[in-house]
Amino acid sequence: MAESHQILILPGDGIGREVVPAAVAVMEAAAKRVGLSLSFVEGLLGGCAIDATGQPLPEETLRLAKASRAVLLGAVGGPAWDSLPTSSRPERGLLGLRAGLGLFANLRPALLFPALADASSLKPELVAGLDLLIVRELTGGIYFGEPRGIEVVNNERRGFNTDVYSEHEIDRIARVAFELARKRQRRLCSVDKANVLEVTQLWREVVTSVGKEYPDVELSHLYVDNAGMQLVRAPKQFDVMVTGNLFGDILSDVAAMLTGSLGMLPSASLAASGQGLYEPVHGSAPDIAGQDKANPLATILSVSMLFRYSLDAPEAADLIERAVDQVLAEGYRTADIVGSGDPAAVREVGTRAMADQVLRLVETLETRS
Ligand code: NAD
Repeated sequence: MAESHQILILPGDGIGREVVPAAVAVMEAAAKRVGLSLSFVEGLLGGCAIDATGQPLPEETLRLAKASRAVLLGAVGGPAWDSLPTSSRPERGLLGLRAGLGLFANLRPALLFPALADASSLKPELVAGLDLLIVRELTGGIYFGEPRGIEVVNNERRGFNTDVYSEHEIDRIARVAFELARKRQRRLCSVDKANVLEVTQLWREVVTSVGKEYPDVELSHLYVDNAGMQLVRAPKQFDVMVTGNLFGDILSDVAAMLTGSLGMLPSASLAASGQGLYEPVHGSAPDIAGQDKANPLATILSVSMLFRYSLDAPEAADLIERAVDQVLAEGYRTADIVGSGDPAAVREVGTRAMADQVLRLVETLETRS
């Protein structure tokens, strides 16, 4: 009998409880189409976990996550838990899960579906057909470097942080990026500030040296200031970009805006074991929670990444992406993206109806072998 992969489902809070069930239905349908066997377990994370157990990340959730091939997460947080001390807030659960699984590679695609080209802040011709992937190192660099703090020197306060990367940390994120580029257009751009920062001189040296093992991938380097400019000048020149934690944080948000809505953006975070956490970039959106208004596509596209990167099932990923593309081309829009596309053809729908449209196509589109 074919191996069955366990997937942990963590709806979390707010609209997570609406978009995750919608995406799970799509996941089940896509798995069935390509003959993959999946088993699902559900857990608590964030505010709902605090309410039920007093902890944002119950031990049982971490245990289930470690025993699963992949985790699908909605979002955590909301006003009900905003007054809690930082150390016990819902977001702590997410940070604990990332650390507990050793997720060091964050993947943020910026994919612009042709039907939404006018939702971008750039001219449609600059972004139509955009398909770039930003790979951000997630567990090192200046966000974690020591020493750090604020101290008093000569009667004034001085704040300081340390940007630090060891060779093995650069080596492993570079390998993830090269492998991903190999499955795409075989072009990798590494972003640093090697003209000023020694830590990124080392970054450039190590990425260049790993690149010798990937002669089929064209490697280029950009300083981060130039990379920022190029992203808004001519983003389609990029295939995969790899960078450290700080630069990746900023550049992935810049790239996100090129594609328009928060409701369309998926993400993946990978561990050395191949385990992955998949989640939409958006939060729990308390302002629209429980109203069937949330756009489920970011979570559905996170499922597509789950198939591609944790289950090695690109045909299922492809099926979901083509289904989303077609649903948008047919004019279906949730409220957040209703302003883009030909107004005469636009059909406004809620969370469930949008997911049903994707499901219909995932069940019926031809698979590509
Ligand atoms: P948010 O992403 O939840 O919402 C920002 C705006 O975008 C809101 O107007 C919301 O209605 C809209 N929006 C977000 N997702 C949408 C979707 N799928 N469809 C349609 N509209 C959508 O960010 P926020 O308001 O700053 O944060 C709300 C809560 O979410 C906070 O408690 C915050 O801590 C938490 N949060 C969690 C995560 C996470 O779990 N990874 C990320 C960001 C924020």
